[in-house]
Amino acid sequence: MKALTFQGEGEVRVVDVPRPIIGGSRDVLVKVTLGAVCGSDLHILHGQTPMNPGAVLGHEFVGVVEEVGSEVDRFQPGDRVVSSFFTACGHCALCRKGWFNQCAEKRTFGHGDFFGGLGGGQAEYVVVPNADNTMEKIPDGMTDEQAIFVGDILATGFFGAERAEIKPGDVTAVVGAGPVGLMAIMSAQLFGPARVFAIDMVDDRLELARELGAIPIDARDVAPVEAIKQGTGGLGADSSIECVGLLSAVETAINSVRGGGIISMVGVPSANEGEFPFMRVWLKALTFRAGWCNVQKYMRPLLDLIAAGRLRPEKIISHRMKLDQAQEAYRMFDAREATKIVLIP
Ligand SMILES: [Zn+2]
Ligand SMILES: [Zn+2]
Repeated sequence: MKALTFQGEGEVRVVDVPRPIIGGSRDVLVKVTLGAVCGSDLHILHGQTPMNPGAVLGHEFVGVVEEVGSEVDRFQPGDRVVSSFFTACGHCALCRKGWFNQCAEKRTFGHGDFFGGLGGGQAEYVVVPNADNTMEKIPDGMTDEQAIFVGDILATGFFGAERAEIKPGDVTAVVGAGPVGLMAIMSAQLFGPARVFAIDMVDDRLELARELGAIPIDARDVAPVEAIKQGTGGLGADSSIECVGLLSAVETAINSVRGGGIISMVGVPSANEGEFPFMRVWLKALTFRAGWCNVQKYMRPLLDLIAAGRLRPEKIISHRMKLDQAQEAYRMFDAREATKIVLIP
């Protein structure tokens, strides 16, 4: 089968690899019908996330069940499915507490041997282990493009918004209007804020943010923290959702909120350690939350919200390309020439 593989820092290539086979009784073989390119893929491309050469990329995908292991209960061949970007066992102590992203046996798709040795979704086929706790069925009538982001960036944006504890009438600031930031804006609107500010430096992203009902702040033109203060009578936002991960963006997220406010960080940190403004957080009684998404908890409700027309995540897709063009897709996404690219095998 065809698959996009990592070849070393700065290089990915579509090559022929053996079609994966079901190895365990809880595995499912999925024929991928749509994959997507994610910011995390760029971290691999640039060598910031370790990856073994030859490993298959891609952790955002939907497809059709081709074959199921003997102990799989929830799926049958022919089912259309969306997968979380990581597997969870469903029975360890933290899975039982509902924290699937803290699963003792968690493995991540498209991240090679360092993250569990799974295959990837930028390929024609992928094996999904622990399928009953990793995938959801796509409701009838929902397209692949509507469903695909439930397994990663939409769940992440929603997780960020939920943990910002937005109340009706609040002002929230979304730092970064890339794919995750745009999903955070969309999700934030479900909680009834009066206003959502969106900070970015790319025209297309700011325009999409505006279309989603946010007030764009172009950080090339104005100091974002000042702009938010001006827009809130000098107070600052009630909450902020950090969707970049650069330490400077985290600082903006912290400085954008009022006393008693909440900062919810979902961006992947750009450094392991950095300075943290303990005194400011203490004086202003701020709440700081961070974390990567507990996807499995959110997939079902998000699919229901999409089915009801209350979320339209497919709006952010800017380019539809063939899997054969994946190398070019990575280049375009890296150069910010595309907001979100989906790949058709
Ligand atoms: Zn991702
Ligand atoms: Zn577990």
